[in-house]
Amino acid sequence: MLTVSHVTKKYHKVLANEDINFVIPDGQIGVLLGPNGAGKSTIIKCIMGFLKYQGQVQVDGLYNKSLEAKKIMGYIPEIPSLYPNLTVDEHMEFIARAYKLKDYEAYKEELLSRFDLEDKKTKFGDELSKGMQQKLSICCGLLPRPKLVLFDEPMIGLDPHAIKELKLILQELRDRGCCVLVSTHMIDSIEELWDTTYIMKQGRVAAVVSKEDIKGQAKRLEDIFFEITEQPAQEFSGEGEV
Ligand code: ATP
Repeated sequence: MLTVSHVTKKYHKVLANEDINFVIPDGQIGVLLGPNGAGKSTIIKCIMGFLKYQGQVQVDGLYNKSLEAKKIMGYIPEIPSLYPNLTVDEHMEFIARAYKLKDYEAYKEELLSRFDLEDKKTKFGDELSKGMQQKLSICCGLLPRPKLVLFDEPMIGLDPHAIKELKLILQELRDRGCCVLVSTHMIDSIEELWDTTYIMKQGRVAAVVSKEDIKGQAKRLEDIFFEITEQPAQEFSGEGEV
C-alpha cells in the first residue's frame, strides 16, 4: 500500500506540489492525470525519495527513504537513464546484483523477449534507439519484482506492440497484488486500466475519480479531465471528490 500524506514540494519559489494526499491499496492501479507542469513527476520523485519535501510517504507502512522500502519500490522514469557503456544484458545483470536477486534468469529472459530486446542483448546503452531505451528501462524497473511500481509517462516513445505488452504487464502487476502508480496525460492509453485517477492541476489533486464513480455514466474520464483542467484558475478551488 502507498500512503502519501500532506506532501508539499517547492523548487525555490515554484510550488510544484501542494498538500498532496492519497492512498493506493495493493492490487490497484492509480493514475496521475494532468497537463504539463501539473506536478506529476514531482510527486513521483517525492514518493521515490529523490527530493526533499514536507509531509510523509509510506510504502507498506515503511518510511519511503528507508532501505527496506527501497527494496520493494520500482521506478520507471520519464526519461530513461541508462549506462552508455553497459550492454542490455549487463544492465539487467547490474540490477540483479544490486538487488541481490536469486533465480531471476527466466524472468529476465521473459521481460527482454516481451519487449523485443532478446536480440539486442549485446548492444550498448548508447546504441539503442529512444524506444528501445524506454523498453530496457521498463525491464530494469520490473526485474526485482517490486511491490510498488511507479511509471512516469511510460507509453511515450513505445511502439504499438510495446504499448500492448506494457498494458498487459500493468494488469498482471495488479493481479499479483502490486500497487501501481502511472503518470500520464495520454488519457486514452490508460482508459481501461485504472482503478482510481487523481486529476492534478497547478500542483494540487483537483479531483479523485474512482472507476466505480463513473460506471454506467455517460460522462467519461476525459470529460471530467477537461471540465477540471480547463476551468479558469480563479474558479479552481482545489481538492474534491467526483
Ligand atoms: P509534464 O507533464 O510536462 O511532465 P509534470 O506534471 O510532470 O509535467 P513537474 O515536472 O512535476 O510537472 O513540474 C511541476 C512544476 O515544477 C512546474 O512548474 C515545473 O516547471 C517545476 N519544476 C519541475 N522540476 C523543477 C526543478 N528541478 N527546478 C525548478 N522547478 C521545477
